[in-house]
This record gives sequence, C-alpha cells and structure tokens, in this order.
Amino acid sequence: MSKEFQAIVVGAGPAGSSAALTMARAGLDVALVERGNFPGEKNMFGGLLHRMTSIEEVFPDFWERAPLERHIAKKGTTFMTDAASFHVQHETASFDRTPYNGYTVFRPKFDRWLAEEAVKAGVTLINRSTVEDVVLKNNRVQGVTIVGRQGKLSAPVVVAADGVLSFTALKAGLRRPGFNPDQMAVGIKALFDLPKEVIDDRFGLVRDQGFANEYVGCTGGVRGGGFLYTNYDTISVGLVVHLSSLRASGKTPYDLLNAFLEQPQFTKLLKGGRLMEYSAHVIPEGGYAMIPELYGDGILVAGDAAALCNATGVNLEGINLASHSGILAAKTVVEAHAENDFSRKALKRYKDRLDLSWVMKDLKGFRNAPKMLHIDRIYNEYPELVCSMMEHVYRIDGTPKVSIPKLIMREVKEKVGIKNAFSDLLTAWRAL
Ligand SMILES: Cc1cc2nc3c(=O)[nH]c(=O)nc-3n(C[C@H](O)[C@H](O)[C@H](O)COP(=O)(O)OP(=O)(O)OC[C@H]3O[C@@H](n4cnc5c(N)ncnc54)[C@H](O)[C@@H]3O)c2cc1C
Repeated sequence: MSKEFQAIVVGAGPAGSSAALTMARAGLDVALVERGNFPGEKNMFGGLLHRMTSIEEVFPDFWERAPLERHIAKKGTTFMTDAASFHVQHETASFDRTPYNGYTVFRPKFDRWLAEEAVKAGVTLINRSTVEDVVLKNNRVQGVTIVGRQGKLSAPVVVAADGVLSFTALKAGLRRPGFNPDQMAVGIKALFDLPKEVIDDRFGLVRDQGFANEYVGCTGGVRGGGFLYTNYDTISVGLVVHLSSLRASGKTPYDLLNAFLEQPQFTKLLKGGRLMEYSAHVIPEGGYAMIPELYGDGILVAGDAAALCNATGVNLEGINLASHSGILAAKTVVEAHAENDFSRKALKRYKDRLDLSWVMKDLKGFRNAPKMLHIDRIYNEYPELVCSMMEHVYRIDGTPKVSIPKLIMREVKEKVGIKNAFSDLLTAWRAL
C-alpha cells in the first residue's frame, strides 16, 4: 500500500479525530491512521468527559448526537482513612441543564463516534495500522510507514496524535526517548454493572443525571487518588497513582485497586454489581514542564502526544485539551496548504494558537500543580487530619467542647506539624 494525501493524522483518539474532522471539513484529503480494529478499541480513561466547547462549535447538538452515558450533575470529594471518611459535594442546577458541564462516556463508543463523524466529513480512516516511523525527505516529515501492511503513506504534513507514548513525535525528533517517572501516572479502572434504577437510588440521581466522585487517602500511602463515576447502567471505579511513588512502594496497581474496592465504606456502593472488566493506561501528568516541541518541518503534535493533559488535583482534564489542540493543529495545516508552506516556521503558528488558547493558559496557570501533587502528606496525613477533626467536631460525649480554631491547631500540630502545614499551604496556594 502506498498512497498520497494532503495530511496524515496518526491516532484516532479525541485529538486525532478532531484534527482530521476539521481538516476534512475545510476540504483537505486526510488519512486518519489507527492501530486498533476500530477507533477507541484500545483506549480507556477514568470516564469524565469535560465540556468540549470546540466540538460543540462543530456539533451544537453535541449532547444529543454523541454516545454519552450521563451528564454530571453532582461532584464530590471524599477524604478517607481505613476507618472513617469525610465527604464534600457540589451540586448546581446549572450543571443539570444544557450545555452540560461534563459527561461520563465509554471510549470505545465515544472515540468511534467522533472518528465516524470525521469519515462522514470525507476522512479516509485506516484501521488496524500501526505507524512505525516517519518518512523524512531533506529532513522534512513527508509521510509515515505502517507496520504489518508494509505500507507507506505520503503527505506534506503529519499530525502526531498517537497518545502519551507518541512514537511519531519521538521518531520525528520532537521528544526525547524515555520518560521521567515523576511526570507519569498510571490509571487503573474496574467496571461494575448495576441496573440504572439501583444506580439512581444509590446515588440520588434522576433522569440521566450522573455523579462523579474523587477519593483522597485510599491509595495505601502511594501518591494518587481514587475515582467513581456513574455511567448509564455501570459504575467505573479506579485509581490514578504516580509512577515513581508506585515503584518506590513495591506494590502493584492491582493490589492497590483491590484494597480500595475492599474498603467497607466503598463496597456498599458497589453491592450487587458484577465486575465486567479491568483496564489500565498511563497518563502524562507533568503539566507545562513536560510539553515537548510541538512542531517541526512537516509535523505537528497534539493531545497526550504533546503532554497536553491538565492534572490539577481538582480536575483531570485530557480529552477536552486533546480535542482543542487537534482542532488548532488542523487550522494551522489548512493555512499551510493555502500558502503551500509546511516548514517549521509556517507551522509555528500552531504553537502561537495554542499559547493564546485556554489550553496553554490553563497548563501555564497550573504549572505548579505537579509540585503540589508530589507532597506525600496529601495522601496520608491530611485525610487523617480531616477525618479526625470532623470526628471531634461531631462527637458529643459529656466533655467540654474544644473550639474549632483550637481543634484545628491541635490536629495540625499532631498530624503534620505547623511548619509543614504552612509550607504545604504555600505550595498549594501557588499551584492552584
Ligand atoms: C485512567 C485514566 C483516567 C483519565 N481520566 C480522564 C478524565 O476523567 N477526563 C479526561 O478528560 N481525561 C482523562 N484522562 C486523560 C485522557 O484519557 C487523555 O488525555 C486523552 O485520551 C488524550 O487523547 P489523545 O487523542 O491525545 O490520545 P489517546 O486517547 O491516547 O489516543 C491516541 C490514539 O492513537 C492510537 N495510536 C497510538 N499509537 C499509534 C500508532 N503508532 N499508530 C496508529 N495509531 C496509534 C491509539 O490506539 C489511540 O486511538 C484519563 C486517562 C487515564 C489513563
């Protein structure tokens, strides 16, 4: 197989399909190359699709068209110890009406839908094809080679949207080999089925409302957190843990997930549910400092391949950044075609566009978040402090009450120390 296109996109995840769709709608002949049997087959995530304003511009009725599970009407955070938990929750009427603020989705359905929309716009989708290298001519990327099919595709420009381990960006010399484990996390997820009515009753939901909850203190001392998302008639639960901390602990992700699922306060939420599947994937969590070179002669990098993932400790946003960066890369390619200039200098406009967009502004704004998320006390001492303090606040046992300011000081001194608490507060202040 050897064919010529006006642009090649590697990877039919949210970044790649958004890029391919945008270019095809602008009239370009685009190849979208995906290693899976179909887009999304190999993709997993926690499950929370944050609002995709750039895709809403393409599909104003996005929430009616796309295969979404539930819209997120409630979000919560639970601080946990082995014996106690303290839960805070946010709910607002505005997240319960269109345009919704977020949804739960399944990647095999969602990614497939987005790629199919790209195909409807004229994209040539090439499944079951793993890109193994870029084709260079005079040091310019001019195409890709595909494993297995012994094929070669040519185009004056390639968009690397092949995810966190992007071999395309590596082969084009835009990122260094290897990764810093301090900048990577691993996510593990289990899926349980439960009837819709049971999920609605258990989590206080009506219609297609959904609930998203994060857990702190549930990772056996390893830096990371847990999540629970309600789908239509299944529940996604899992953990995201820092790779360096996991390695130092000597534990496996599987051990940690099982321990999490066995917590009594947690098992009741899944009671009656049947385990349907496990999955795992790595996440680029290094933030702004991790972003590689975003463009070169004949090549642009988008989505996770460019480490455009924003893990702030409050939200984990990846898909919305991936899709928006794919669209900005596509707009740059369309301009490059109009001017017949695919040089590094011309493609720099992609970075200029990204810098002006909320994607880079958010990543820059939260560039200190990874430092905050490396404070081990967040995952051990602070959940204990919060739970113990709340127990004292609520306990009535015939002894005089300690005032809340005094209680806070006492707990902070006992559990973390004033100096550490002050330093952690300052780090968090700078990060958030
Ligand atoms: C456990 C976990 C939880 C997460 N939770 C959330 C969340 O709740 N919300 C959120 O917004 N984000 C979340 N993320 C992050 C989010 O999944 C990513 O940021 C997002 O998927 C990036 O999209 P992408 O298109 O850049 O890359 P990907 O989704 O990784 O897509 C890359 C595509 O390229 C294909 N591919 C790879 N290599 C090749 C090759 N050589 N040739 C051809 N095709 C190739 C892959 O098969 C895939 O289809 C989570 C991630 C994980 C792992």
